[in-house]
Amino acid sequence: MIPQAEKGKQMHLSKRIMVTGGCGFLGSHLCERLLEQGHDVLCVDNCFTGTKRNIRHLLNHPDFEFIRHDVTFPLYLEVDEIYNMACPASPIHYQFDPVQTTKTSVHGAINMLGLAKRVRARILQASTSEVYGDPEVHPQPESYWGRVNPIGIRSCYDEGKRCAETLFFDYYRQHRLKIKVARIFNTYGPRMHPNDGRVVSNFIVQALKNEPITVFGQGQQTRSFCYVDDLIEGLIGLMNSSDEMIGPVNLGNPAEFTIMELARKVIELTGSASEVIYKPLPQDDPRQRKPDIALARKELQWQPVVGLDEGLKKTIAYFERLLEEENR
Ligand code: NAD
Ligand code: UDP
Ligand code: UDP
Repeated sequence: MIPQAEKGKQMHLSKRIMVTGGCGFLGSHLCERLLEQGHDVLCVDNCFTGTKRNIRHLLNHPDFEFIRHDVTFPLYLEVDEIYNMACPASPIHYQFDPVQTTKTSVHGAINMLGLAKRVRARILQASTSEVYGDPEVHPQPESYWGRVNPIGIRSCYDEGKRCAETLFFDYYRQHRLKIKVARIFNTYGPRMHPNDGRVVSNFIVQALKNEPITVFGQGQQTRSFCYVDDLIEGLIGLMNSSDEMIGPVNLGNPAEFTIMELARKVIELTGSASEVIYKPLPQDDPRQRKPDIALARKELQWQPVVGLDEGLKKTIAYFERLLEEENR
C-alpha cells in the first residue's frame, strides 16, 4: 500500500498531459511512458497515419483518454502540458496530401499554441532534423540554419516544420509562452507503420518476407538511427527541464551508418535470404545526417544508450509478431 503522504505527493506531481499524434509511432510510446509515470494522458489524433491499434492496450487505463480530432481545427481543453507530435512523418505519408501536411504543421501549431496560451500550459514541438534539409555542415549543430528546398516534394514537411518552429519562438517572444522545441533525428522501433516506406521498417519487413531489399541510389547516403525508448526519455527530459531551456535541441543517436550498412545489418540479424536491389534516389534525399548532441548532453544530461544491433533486434521481434498475426 502507498502511504498517505506518498499518495499526496504523487497526486501533486501528476499532470494532465495532452499528446497530439498520440496514436502514432512515437506518440503511442510517449503516452505509455507518461501513464507509467502516473500522469493523466489525453491522446488527440485524427488517425491519419496512426491507428487505434497502437493505443489499444491503453484504452482501459483509468488515466487515459482518446479524442479523435484533427489539430488543424481549434480544440478547447484544460491541460498542464502539451506534446505536439501530430504530423505524418514518413515521406510517402506526408507526400500523399502535401497541402494537409503543411496545414497540420502550421494550423496545428497555431491552434495548439493558442490552447497553451489560454491555459498557460507548457508546450513541446516535435520538430525534425529535416529543418536542416540536405545539410552542408556535418554533423548538424542546432546553430546551423540548414539548406532546404522551399519548392520540392519534401518541402511541405520541411518548411511546415520550419514555420512551426517560427511560430513557437514568436509565441515565446510575444506571449511569453513556455515552449520547448526538439529536433528529432531518424527514430525507429516497435509500432512503426509496416507500410510507411521508412527505411528501417521497409528493410525489416522485406528481409522477414525474403523479398528484395530496396536500396535507393547507391546506398551511400547516411542516417543516424535512434531507438524509440531513448528518444522518449529525451523528449520527457526536455519537457521537464528548466523554463530557460527552450531549444531547439537535437535528439538523436550520433552513430552514423550508410543505408547500405543498414541493409547488410538487417539481412544479418534476420538471417534473411533477401538480395539487395537498387532503386532511383528520391528527389532532394539528404546525403548525410548526424546529430551533434552536445547541447542535449550538457543541458538535459541525455544521451542514447541503445545501440543499433540491440534496437534492431527488438524491432525485428516486433515485426515478426506483426507478420505472424497478419498471416493467421
Ligand atoms: P506517425 O505518422 O506514426 O505519427 C503521427 C501521428 O499524427 C499519427 O498518429 C497521425 O494519425 C497523427 N496526425 C497526423 N495529422 C494529424 C492531424 N491533422 N490531426 C491530428 N492528428 C494527426 O509518425 P511518428 O514517427 O510517430 O512522428 C511523430 C512526430 O515526430 C511527427 O511530428 C514527426 O514529424 C516527428 N518526427 C519523427 C521522426 C521519426 O523518425 N519517427 C523524426 C523527426 C520528427
Ligand atoms: N485555440 C484553440 N484552443 C484554445 C485557444 C485557441 O484551438 O483553447 C485556437 C484558436 O482557434 C485560435 C488559435 O488557437 O485561432 C490561436 O489562438 P490565439 O489566442 O493565439 O490567437 P487568436 O485567437 O487571436 O487568433
Ligand atoms: N531508403 C532506401 N530504401 C527504402 C526506404 C528508404 O534506401 O526502402 C533510403 C532513403 O532514400 C533515405 C534513407 O533511406 O536516404 C532514409 O529514408 P527514410 O524515409 O526512412 O527517412 P528520411 O529520408 O526522412 O530520413
